[in-house]
Amino acid sequence: MTAQLIDGKAVAAEVEAEVRAELARTGLTPGLTVVRVGHDPASEIYVRNKARKAEELGFTGSELAFPANMTEDDLMAEIAGLNDDPAVDGILVQLPLPPQIDSNKVIDAIDPGKDVDGFHPINVGRLHLGRPTLAPCTPAGVMRLLGSTGISVAGAHAVVLGRSDIVGKPMAALLLQAHATVTICHSRTRELSDVTRQADILVAAIGRPLFVTADMVKPQAIVIDVGINRVGPEFADRLAHDEQKSRLLAKNGSVNVGDVDFARVREVAGWITPVPGGVGPMTIAMLMRNTVTAAIRRRQ
Ligand code: NAP
Repeated sequence: MTAQLIDGKAVAAEVEAEVRAELARTGLTPGLTVVRVGHDPASEIYVRNKARKAEELGFTGSELAFPANMTEDDLMAEIAGLNDDPAVDGILVQLPLPPQIDSNKVIDAIDPGKDVDGFHPINVGRLHLGRPTLAPCTPAGVMRLLGSTGISVAGAHAVVLGRSDIVGKPMAALLLQAHATVTICHSRTRELSDVTRQADILVAAIGRPLFVTADMVKPQAIVIDVGINRVGPEFADRLAHDEQKSRLLAKNGSVNVGDVDFARVREVAGWITPVPGGVGPMTIAMLMRNTVTAAIRRRQ
């Protein structure tokens, strides 16, 4: 039996429709500002995609791009200006920042009410306390994908692979709030496969291409692949069984794969997200949702 696909594009379109309806109901035009420092090519693509979606949904806003040698003081001054600007509802600082800038200091400086990434310690604290907050977009998107399966998270054993501040930890907090029994695994976890094989829900967020293999997955589990890894010809052998990825690799010289060996794991799992087209579209959709939420709350 092949797993059912969880279609991130379709669920993201539903979230976008909700955002449009909310804008029509409230008459609001939210303002989102995305800040980018330096020229990381991946960041440039992410920022462009976010800005494009905001524009498409009728938000006002801008992308502020600064040179890689920007000082921390200058960035802090920009953040202070955005905090004070009444037209700005959401501020997103694209990470990573250049080494001369302390990311934590910058995140801490963002007005928590405008922190649409949900990374500010106040919002993180509220998330863990189960209070209304702006939840980090990627794990919030995963919760929507889980909801789309119609299978209850309550009581399920959810195993989260990865404990980063932006994915793993908030993911575990959201699953716990949804009454899952949650296990968090990381690079020091012993007998990892024994743990992952117990998972009714397995969320992989480690940034290791094809790490999760079929023998690590419980039959009929829901497998959510957060990883995005660009791999080259060195992965040709490991991708030989995956016709689609092999074709793309041969054609383009590189291909995006997740943390999960999709072609094999889909033969074991009950539900699975593809890469691309799974978690990725949800992250942007949930950012738009958070911006509308921030805009509404700021006017209450
Ligand atoms: P990260 O900050 O590098 O964290 C990786 C986590 O994985 C760490 O907690 C690390 O453990 C754990 N880990 C690494 N190797 C491991 C191993 N062999 N066994 C068990 N655990 C291991 O990464 P991240 O920012 O959370 O991102 C993870 C992946 O998701 C990346 O591929 C990233 O590109 C992707 N991502 C996608 C989206 C999206 O929109 N789809 C958004 C964000 C991130 P330690 O803590 O012990 O080091």
